[in-house]
Amino acid sequence: MNNEFLMNLIYIISSCLFAFGLKFLGSPVTARRGNILSASGMFLAIIATLAGSHVISFQWILIGILIGASLGALVAFKAAMTQMPEMIALLHGCGALASVFIGWIAYCVHGATDLTNTITLYLSIVIGGLTFTGSAIAWGKLSEHIPGKPILFTGQKWLNTGIISAILVLGVMFIMQPARYDLFLIILGLSCLFGIFMVIPIGGADMPVVISVLNSYSGVVACTTGFVIHNTLLIVVGSLVGANGMILSIIMCKAMNRSITNVLFGAFGSVVKKSATGEKKEAKAISVEDAFLILENAKSVVIIPGYGLAVAQAQHAVRELGEFLEKNGCDVKYAIHPVAGRMPGHMNVLLAEANISYDQLMEMDAINPLMENADAAIVIGANDVVNPASRHDKSSPIYGMPIINADKAKTVFVLKRSMATGFAGIENELFYYDNCRMIFGDAKQTVQALVAEFKSGQSR
Ligand code: NDP
Repeated sequence: MNNEFLMNLIYIISSCLFAFGLKFLGSPVTARRGNILSASGMFLAIIATLAGSHVISFQWILIGILIGASLGALVAFKAAMTQMPEMIALLHGCGALASVFIGWIAYCVHGATDLTNTITLYLSIVIGGLTFTGSAIAWGKLSEHIPGKPILFTGQKWLNTGIISAILVLGVMFIMQPARYDLFLIILGLSCLFGIFMVIPIGGADMPVVISVLNSYSGVVACTTGFVIHNTLLIVVGSLVGANGMILSIIMCKAMNRSITNVLFGAFGSVVKKSATGEKKEAKAISVEDAFLILENAKSVVIIPGYGLAVAQAQHAVRELGEFLEKNGCDVKYAIHPVAGRMPGHMNVLLAEANISYDQLMEMDAINPLMENADAAIVIGANDVVNPASRHDKSSPIYGMPIINADKAKTVFVLKRSMATGFAGIENELFYYDNCRMIFGDAKQTVQALVAEFKSGQSR
C-alpha cells in the first residue's frame, strides 16, 4: 500500500465521519455523538495530511497546532452558552482567513497554474476575504464591541454596488493576466472591505441568519481552496459545510418568514424603538403567590423558554416546576421557537441539559393549534418570539415572523426582570394584554419561588 493510497483511504473515512457527524447533529439526543464523530474525522484528516505531505520539518506546524488548539480550547471553555453565536462567528471567520492564507501562499509559491486554478484562487480570496471581515463585524455586533443596530448611511447601496462591480471587473482582468500580483492584492483588499459593508447594515433579529450564511460561505471558501491546492478532503468538507450552512439559513429564514435576499440586502433590522400599537395600557404585575394559585388549578400549561432562560440558567428549576405541575395532574408542554435564544437549537440544548423529556418539547407549528386550550402559558425570558405584533402590525420590523401564540392561552405569565425589549429592540404588546401578567425578577429566582410554593402547598 503506497502513501497516497493510504492518505486517500483515510480521507474517505474522514469524509464519512463528517457526513455521519452532521447527520447525528440533527437531533439533541445524538448531537454529542455527532460532535465526537466530526472531531475524530478532523483528527484523522490532520494526521493523513501531515503524513502524506512532503513536509521536511514539522517544527512550525507543531507550534501552530499547539497555539491554535490551546486558543480554541480556552475560548470554548470560557464561552457561556449565550456567547455561542459570537464564538461561531469568530471560528468561521478564522477558517475563512486560513483559506485565504492557503490560497495566497499557493499563489506566491506556484503562481496561478491554469484557468481552473486561477478562477478557484480568485473565488477563494473573494469569498474568504469577505467572510473573514463579515464574520469579524458579526462577532463585534453580537459581543457588543460595536453597536448591534444596523449602520446605515446615504449612498450605501451604491457604494456596495461599486465595490462588487470593481471586484468583478478586476476578477476578469486577473483571470486574463494571472501573473499580476497587484490585482490579486487589490481584489483581496476590496473583498475584505465588502465584507464590512455587507454586514454593518444588518442587525436586530436578522443576525442569526447572517451568522449562518457566513458559516456557509466559510465552507464554500474551504471548497474552492481545496481546488486550488488539489485537496479532495477540503473540497468534500467545504461542500458539506457550505450546503448545510445554506440549508440552515433557509430554515431560519422560513421560521422568520423572510427571504435570504431580503435579510442580506433589505437592511431589515433598522429597528426603531417602537411602542406597542393601540391605546397605551399599563402592564399588570402579579406576585409569585397569586400566580401559584392559578397554576395550582391549571390542567394544561405550556412553558415557552427564551433567551432570558439561558441568561438566568433556569433550566433545572424549570424542570422541577414542570414536575410539580405534572404531579398536580397538569399536562405540561414546552414550546420551542426555531429562533428562540441566540443560536439554532439553543432551547433544545438547555432543556436537554436539565433532562426534560424530548416528548414534551413541541415545535412551534405543533403547539400553536393547542394554545387556545392551555390554561396557562409561562413565558420564561422570551420576548420577540411571543410578540403578537408580528401577526398584524405591518409597520413592525418583525411583521410576518411566525411566533408562539402565547397570547391565546387563558392566562399568560411573563417572567422577566423589567419591561426592557428583546433582541429586536421592539416593545412587546403581549405584556399589555388583559390575560397577561408580568412576574418581574430573575427567571431562575422566580421559578424557584414558584417551586417553593408548590413544595409548601404539598406539605400543607
Ligand atoms: P429576546 O432576546 O427577544 O428576549 C429575551 C428577554 O429575556 C429579554 O426581554 C430580557 O428582558 C429577558 N431576560 C434576560 N435576562 C433575564 C433573566 N436573567 N431573567 C429573566 N429574564 C431575562 O429572546 P427570544 O428568545 O424571545 O428571541 C430571540 C431573539 O434573538 C430573536 O429576535 C432572534 O431573532 C434573535 N437571535 C436568535 C438567534 C438564534 O439562532 N436563535 C441568534 C441571534 C439572535 P429583561 O431584560 O427585562 O429581563
